[in-house]
Amino acid sequence: MERIAYLGLGIMGSGMATNLLKAGYDVTVWNRNPESCKSLVEKGATQAQTPAQAVENAEAIMYCLANDKAVEEVVFGQDGILSNVRSGQIAIDMSTVHPDTSRQEAAAYAQKHVEFLDAPVFGSKNESAAGGLWIVVGGKQDVFEQVKPILEPLSETIHYLGDTGKGTSMKLIGNSIVATQIQALGEAMILATKAGLNPKDVLDVLHVVDFRSPIFDGIGKMLVNRDFTPSFALKHMLKDANLIARFAQDLNSPMPAAGLVRETIKAAVNQGWGEENASALIKALELDGGVTVES
Ligand code: NAP
Repeated sequence: MERIAYLGLGIMGSGMATNLLKAGYDVTVWNRNPESCKSLVEKGATQAQTPAQAVENAEAIMYCLANDKAVEEVVFGQDGILSNVRSGQIAIDMSTVHPDTSRQEAAAYAQKHVEFLDAPVFGSKNESAAGGLWIVVGGKQDVFEQVKPILEPLSETIHYLGDTGKGTSMKLIGNSIVATQIQALGEAMILATKAGLNPKDVLDVLHVVDFRSPIFDGIGKMLVNRDFTPSFALKHMLKDANLIARFAQDLNSPMPAAGLVRETIKAAVNQGWGEENASALIKALELDGGVTVES
């Protein structure tokens, strides 16, 4: 496989498309705002004007889009991917969406004799840029084996989890833990501040104890520096929290803590912090607690 179409050049997609170019693939890119194609074209990509045009000559079609609505528009819409696919191509959706969306995509592609994998990712801006993502995949195993070499330059590990929707299921399950960890860190840091502890001392302890976490380290450092520059936007974390709620409800699965965290995220987005990093959910807790965590 040599020719790849990559659609959606946001924080995550731009890093992945860059690494495909570095690995020597012939990459055609498309993004809703064409400005984002510029830096990829400078690195050797070809720019397409529409999703339909992007997939014209591709063997593999990859995309990482904001949400289910974006997938609906880019895949199923006018001049969308499905309007110009042909038998033998493989489509790989790397967005975080509901597993039902993955299944709808797979069914629509199957009608055109196109294979489909849901392959969302763990890791953020830095891991995407460094080719160090953790990819979780659903779909047919033989199709997965075919595209594995394309996923390797993007990732540290790749996990095949079963049929269509298993990748997106795993992604939502993982993100429920991420959100809960950020909420736990925020609550703890606010309590520590009120108790008169130095937040940096608290982070030093959290860095070594037996319940340490890279989330506590990374988000903790950004929090005390009051740095909310987005690597994963809070608005996307709310999207994920809403997806997790729907996903769990459909399966009658108890998620009381995730429900509480969703309310915190929603409150923070309603304060206007949706474009900031996901860690800005802690600002909603600070508002409630009447203190700011800083060094
Ligand atoms: P992002 O920087 O906000 O990029 C979103 C991408 O989706 C952009 O290319 C955007 O195009 C496109 N888009 C949004 N709405 C669209 C629409 N209606 N039609 C066509 N294109 C549309 O987001 P990101 O952080 O890269 O995240 C992308 C996906 O990966 C999301 O599902 C997110 O949950 C998931 N994810 C993110 C991270 C992370 O840490 N950032 C980690 C793992 C998974 P424009 O440039 O034109 O707006």
